[in-house]
Amino acid sequence: MIEQNVSLRPYNTFGLDAQAKLMARVNSIQALQEVLADSRLKSEERFILGGGSNILLTRNVDGLVIKNEIDGIEVIDETPSHFLVKSGAGVVWHELVMHCIANNYAGIENLSLIPGNVGAAPMQNIGAYGVELKDVFHSLKAVDMASGSVHSFSSSDCDFGYRESVFKRKLKGQFVITSVTLKLSKNPNVNTSYGAIEQELEAMRISSPTIKEVSQAVINIRQSKLPDPKELGNSGSFFKNPVVPTSKYEELKSQHPNIPGYPAGENTKLAAGWLIEQCGWKGKVVGNTGSHAKQALVLVNYGNATGVEIFELSEQIMQSVYDTFGVQLEREVNVY
Ligand code: FAD
Ligand code: NAP
Repeated sequence: MIEQNVSLRPYNTFGLDAQAKLMARVNSIQALQEVLADSRLKSEERFILGGGSNILLTRNVDGLVIKNEIDGIEVIDETPSHFLVKSGAGVVWHELVMHCIANNYAGIENLSLIPGNVGAAPMQNIGAYGVELKDVFHSLKAVDMASGSVHSFSSSDCDFGYRESVFKRKLKGQFVITSVTLKLSKNPNVNTSYGAIEQELEAMRISSPTIKEVSQAVINIRQSKLPDPKELGNSGSFFKNPVVPTSKYEELKSQHPNIPGYPAGENTKLAAGWLIEQCGWKGKVVGNTGSHAKQALVLVNYGNATGVEIFELSEQIMQSVYDTFGVQLEREVNVY
């Protein structure tokens, strides 16, 4: 069934009130193919929606929103060391993480509590606490929106990068991801070296953590730092951390001795949140929006913001970071 004039407010974590002219919910590849082949819908612009936690809606969708609700988690193969776990694109990412932890499939515990659905995880190669989707990725299936045919993508086909993939670049808007298969370990090798995980485990009085305990540590940190979109609209980190030549980092360090920098191949990754904070934006309220008081990288909707207002704030922040540090920030959020 195609719904008409649907408010997208409940379907985006910024809580922005854009309208969709049409919306189709699909719960199988076949249902998706039927929608794509429907001659009445052929001329409509299409927008694929998962959990709406990485989009900034600056206008109404004058076309068809396809809400991917393809469900199901199954182990499709097993080796002495790994499980291949296939998940429907419409499964909530954190529910997949919880399912894997309950069954002792290791590898995605550091990615606990990332909002959104499985189908969007490859889009920006989701990452947190030193783990990225690509580290456990096996393959995915996606439907070509033009022909309706089903394609398989390997890791190299996806061309994963830092919060990047082929689906955000070369194949933007061309494929609907319908399932993702992960290669998860039977022999947990926990990674606690990143950010505040070790401190949190210490506070929890845990010295040899299980994957469940690492997950809990990540959940605790995230809940203490990040605004819950149910209470305060946001889409997580609004900007990517900029990666600059190490010579640029050294130059900045001579002027700002405390500037954080992390090796990224031959380059250096800066912390966008730190740059924004230094420019005085952290906790600043601008009309109905602002930069969050506990994490400057997160822009928030205080209730009645429009997508345009949030976009304009992001422009001002980018300009002031550029003026102060000569560093160009790039948005991580998908602006529509
Ligand atoms: P949506 O917002 O619905 O869509 C995002 C993009 O993907 C859109 O362009 C959409 O068209 C496209 N898309 C969605 N589903 C499909 C599909 N099946 N096929 C093809 N295209 C599709 N991200 C991180 O990487 N790490 C984090 O730690 C993290 N923390 C966050 C914390 C908070 C509080 C919030 C609100 C967000 C955070 N994010 C983080 C961002 C976000 O959760 C992820 O990018 C997530 O993967 C988005 O999933 P979604 O289903 O909500 O995607
Ligand atoms: P944090 O721990 O305060 O660290 C600030 C930044 O420094 C992070 O962005 C992180 O980069 C980088 N960093 C920290 N330790 C590092 C290390 N050992 N090696 C390399 N880089 C390091 O960050 P936070 O804001 O609380 O976030 C914690 C994790 O959750 C981060 O991985 C972050 O990406 C992720 N997160 C993502 C989103 C999103 O929407 N994308 C939202 C919230 C949290 P990286 O971001 O590159 O990891």
